[in-house]
Amino acid sequence: MGAPELWFDSSHILIGGVWRSCASGETLSLENPSTGGTIGDIARGTDVDIDEAVAAAEAALAGDWGRWTAAERGRAMMKMGRMVLERADDLAAIEAADVGKPLKQARADAVALARYLEFYGGAADKVMGETIPYLDGYTVYTLREPHGVTGHIVPWNYPMQIIGRSVGASLAMGNACVLKPSEEACLTALAFAALAEEAGLPAGAINVVPGLGAEAGAALSSHKGIRHVSFTGSVGVGKLIQISAAENIVPVTLELGGKSPQVVFEDADIDKALPFLVNAGIQNAGQTCSASSRILVHRSIHDQVVSRMAARYVELRVGPAPQDLDVGPLISARQKGIVDGFLNMAGDLEVAGAGQIINDAPDGGHYVRPTLLTGATPDHKLAQDEIFGPVQVVVPFDDEDQATTIANGTDYGLVASVWSRDGGRQMRMAKKLRAGQVFLNNYGAGGGVELPFGGTGLSGHGREKGFEALYGFSTLKTVAAHHG
Ligand code: NAD
Repeated sequence: MGAPELWFDSSHILIGGVWRSCASGETLSLENPSTGGTIGDIARGTDVDIDEAVAAAEAALAGDWGRWTAAERGRAMMKMGRMVLERADDLAAIEAADVGKPLKQARADAVALARYLEFYGGAADKVMGETIPYLDGYTVYTLREPHGVTGHIVPWNYPMQIIGRSVGASLAMGNACVLKPSEEACLTALAFAALAEEAGLPAGAINVVPGLGAEAGAALSSHKGIRHVSFTGSVGVGKLIQISAAENIVPVTLELGGKSPQVVFEDADIDKALPFLVNAGIQNAGQTCSASSRILVHRSIHDQVVSRMAARYVELRVGPAPQDLDVGPLISARQKGIVDGFLNMAGDLEVAGAGQIINDAPDGGHYVRPTLLTGATPDHKLAQDEIFGPVQVVVPFDDEDQATTIANGTDYGLVASVWSRDGGRQMRMAKKLRAGQVFLNNYGAGGGVELPFGGTGLSGHGREKGFEALYGFSTLKTVAAHHG
């Protein structure tokens, strides 16, 4: 359970094609959440490094990277995708050690990163403007152009996937990127940059500056050279990012998590629903922006669904990432403190089922028992707040209108699902649910990179993933020629 082998120096930053120490020379220690031990040191980048990274990105846009055709960008990204697949096992081992996620989940993330690179590499030369019929004597057309230098502030829960969807789409559109990974899990961000170099992306197309949020992160989001900011993380920091962006009048994409419901009607195929109901809550130890932490069940089948979910919960085994069990540790002692705090507030609720931490789990790991709770009213704190741990709350409802009211009754709106065999009900619910993605008789649709993703309300705004992201990571210019 030691440190995975790295093919780059984890304590370095990458600016303009040069790997080096950060300006302060200081480092931060990276924790292995499965053991509480240290995996290695990372740079503590600051505003000085961010200044240099933005300048290097601007230079790349003025130089080779800015001259590359869309097809050349796409080809290099697809090559990177193949390299990611070839190294999927290595990347998975690194991500598992760094984030604490079971190996098979980390490997799925590596494959998803490869898919983002394939998808956005393939799309790079397929984003087109249009011609617009206009007044006699005019020809009018639109051009899709890169913003310039884009800033990417990434959290610790899915580094590879989130880098794939934001940096991938941004590079495809010809932007140059400055990436600030999380100080709690940043090794695959550095691995990604090393692979980009190997794939032949010009110096400065991707720059990586690890560091603390309040230092490197704040410096990046407020930098006057940044023309678009993409952020995934907490609501509190999302607000700060939006305020910084407002100062500079630049667009932001904010993906801030949720309290996503699965609505199970009395005519649902419960056998089919069961694995989705549970997995969507415990995947990545519940530390997933689109985790389904609320299960709304028609009262007539409530007890049946609860007991069948509970039977699955008691089988769940929790332990170190390399052992590849159902659930790994939480990312940090702090996150465990947050989740334990919520569980302590569950006093009046009933624990319908809970998983088990294996006996030989290291004492220093941040393990929490996955817990299924019943008896909550829709306005209970645990049915309203994002817990970001393996905890699900089941809430009964009596009819479609009440289900809709409860489902839409939080400040979030990221993802929702409907389990029902009634086609009319599926269509009605899909329209009425307040969410950026609605799944009918499934949850997550396998995570498809092709599917636009993002939220409303406190879940944020803007869309990543799919073709839609390419519009967010570009700007539109209208050209009107008067030729008589
Ligand atoms: P966070 O929002 O503090 O961190 C996310 C990223 O933002 C990290 O890279 C961090 O360094 C950076 N950051 C922090 N402060 C910043 C600032 N002032 N300016 C610019 N960047 C800054 O999230 P966290 O503290 O790691 O987790 C806390 C809670 O956030 C979790 O319990 C969970 O509810 C939520 N969260 C959500 C997601 C998601 O996928 N939506 C991911 C991580 C955390």
